[in-house]
Amino acid sequence: MKYRNVGRSGLRVSEVGLGSWLTYGTATERDTAIECIDTAYRLGVNFFDTANAYNRGEAEKLVGEALRKYPRSSYVLATKVYFPMGDGPNDRGLSRKHIMEQCDASLKRLGVDYIDLYQCHRFDASTSLEETLFALDDLVRQGKILYAGVSEWSAAQISQAKAIEDKRNLRPIISNQPIYNMLVRYIEKDVIPTSEQFGVGQVVFSPLAQGILTGKYQPGSAIPEDSRAANDNTNHWIRSYLRDDVLTSVKKLEHIARELDANLSQLAIAWTLRQSNVASAIIGASRVSQVEENVKAVDLELTPDVLSEIDTVLQEIDGFVPIW
Ligand code: NAP
Repeated sequence: MKYRNVGRSGLRVSEVGLGSWLTYGTATERDTAIECIDTAYRLGVNFFDTANAYNRGEAEKLVGEALRKYPRSSYVLATKVYFPMGDGPNDRGLSRKHIMEQCDASLKRLGVDYIDLYQCHRFDASTSLEETLFALDDLVRQGKILYAGVSEWSAAQISQAKAIEDKRNLRPIISNQPIYNMLVRYIEKDVIPTSEQFGVGQVVFSPLAQGILTGKYQPGSAIPEDSRAANDNTNHWIRSYLRDDVLTSVKKLEHIARELDANLSQLAIAWTLRQSNVASAIIGASRVSQVEENVKAVDLELTPDVLSEIDTVLQEIDGFVPIW
């Protein structure tokens, strides 16, 4: 495994991280989920991502339980706050009240004394940014979180946060967690350049486009059983990728991977890691074999020629925008 600093912070995370959305505490059978986490840990993954909202706390409980047997200092535990955790008016968003209450609830569900990286899952336009940033700063002072991050914030929102941090002398937001894969590249335009300027690192999600960039979905063929797209409870987002033109281009990417003696998932993950601002690619895995396969991406070097071959294929579906 290889490790990178998150932005300008001293926090070092594995280039491949393991997440738990739609998998652990949800669709993946419990023993398999724990085995996936154990395998990742054994292979050097130290970065584990979850969120309070993933199956309303169930993912946090499972991830916390799986990691509890390991020394607390040996892994970086990231979770999030923002999406509704109840029906009340204060059960969502980034108010001081909700952040403080949910941080305590997450610590309890995870069974840890502190969270390494506490992320604002989205931007909350209904709460003053200053209120949110002060709450995060207080959590750091209280020792409940070590670092704060955000997820899917725009370049403008990151810039606003940095201006407030500077003015009020608050501890910095160190990371942003956006979607980033060969099929969704919007962060390249503004988010990465702005983040680089302010020392914010990306810990990107869905590097495999939820499984599309593994080659398991073939143009004109039935959706494989036991795949995310076949599961009625989890396929809401992935369905928008299932177009023949997209899958036909994906087949060409698979061919490029094969020429490198790699598979498509490794190529897709390595492609996200070519960006130095990306500290980690957070994968999902429903099987142990997927973890084993995907972590090998860190050893795949992509030459400028290969990158330009990939770009040529991606130009065929330029303009495609899935739902995420
Ligand atoms: P992904 O890595 O793009 O997709 C993971 C899924 O692809 C797996 O669950 C598996 O699904 C399939 N897969 C993975 N490796 C495979 C392989 N080698 N061969 C065949 N199939 C393979 O990532 P993701 O699950 O969408 O997201 C990863 C993590 O990012 C989440 O767990 C979460 O922590 C984070 N995330 C954050 C946000 C946010 O808003 N911040 C949003 C989404 C995700 P099947 O086997 O079921 O087909």
